[in-house]
Amino acid sequence: MSGDPGFTLFNKMAIIGVGLIGGSISLKLKELGLVNEVIGFGRSESNLETAKDLGVIDEYHRDFQYLHDADIVIVATPVNSIIHLVKQIAPICKKGAIVTDVGSVKEDISKKVGQNHLPNIHFVPGHPIAGTENSGAKAAFPSLFEKKRCVLTPTKLTDQGALSTVKLMWEKLGAEVVIMEPNLHDKIFAAISHLPHIIAYTLVKCADNMKDIDDDILSYSAGGFLDFTRIASSDPEMWRDICLMNKSNIVDTIERFEKTLSEIKKAINSSDGHRIYEDFHTSKKAREKLLK
Ligand code: NAP
Repeated sequence: MSGDPGFTLFNKMAIIGVGLIGGSISLKLKELGLVNEVIGFGRSESNLETAKDLGVIDEYHRDFQYLHDADIVIVATPVNSIIHLVKQIAPICKKGAIVTDVGSVKEDISKKVGQNHLPNIHFVPGHPIAGTENSGAKAAFPSLFEKKRCVLTPTKLTDQGALSTVKLMWEKLGAEVVIMEPNLHDKIFAAISHLPHIIAYTLVKCADNMKDIDDDILSYSAGGFLDFTRIASSDPEMWRDICLMNKSNIVDTIERFEKTLSEIKKAINSSDGHRIYEDFHTSKKAREKLLK
């Protein structure tokens, strides 16, 4: 319940890309009674059918003309499709409609969409810091954003009313909203989200390639390896697109990681136990502080 009977945020919401993130937004707003109708758009009919069967959306369409009376459109597709989709739907939307996205890279989207006057719409760039390694409508669940953060990266042109509404939507979804410059967002998430995914994928590949040691080396992996590499089960299409869109920041963080890795390699190679201990101890303390 919203705590305020009869209060709705939106009469009609459209979601383009009814997957983990788009679907979870819909489920929670429906649960709270904050939206009257949710229509979905997407790529494959099978995912949209699943979304309808699971009650994630009320209806789905293949033709964007059906979003002409939506109060808000959530674009929740892989990052490389967002700019094109927002430009494509703007002329169809009703005047004053809010369009927001959830893409994990923000500078390009904020510049190419948020800094241009598009017909009809008020665009608000966003990125919820919540997710799992699962994808598609079947992976959606309403509590995904509870006690998480959502970063909004408005530009000078962002409509303040639309920004307030999107901020309120995320707060109702259970998230704490943080306003940030898009380029700072991309540097931070290159380090604490994009690099870990690249390392997880690479670690699995590296171990899988060590056939000279054992043909089936991965079958020996236990808790540590599986915990560490959980995110390597994430959708490769989504992560390919994030790598391509945040290229320079990701290359920079990979170089910093290579330098740090080569320092510990040097310490191990020279049997410098003191240095190894100090490095591990510093990391352990930093992680413990984070958990508090
Ligand atoms: P997802 O579960 O794979 O959902 C994406 C949906 O978009 C899929 O249903 C897909 O359709 C559809 N789609 C793909 N390309 C499309 C296109 N060109 N036009 C229309 N629909 C299209 O992915 P997700 O995890 O929700 O991620 C969606 C967005 O949220 C991405 O931009 C991602 O960067 C961002 N994000 C993800 C996470 C995370 O941890 N997963 C966290 C924060 C933000 P099909 O089912 O037919 O393939």
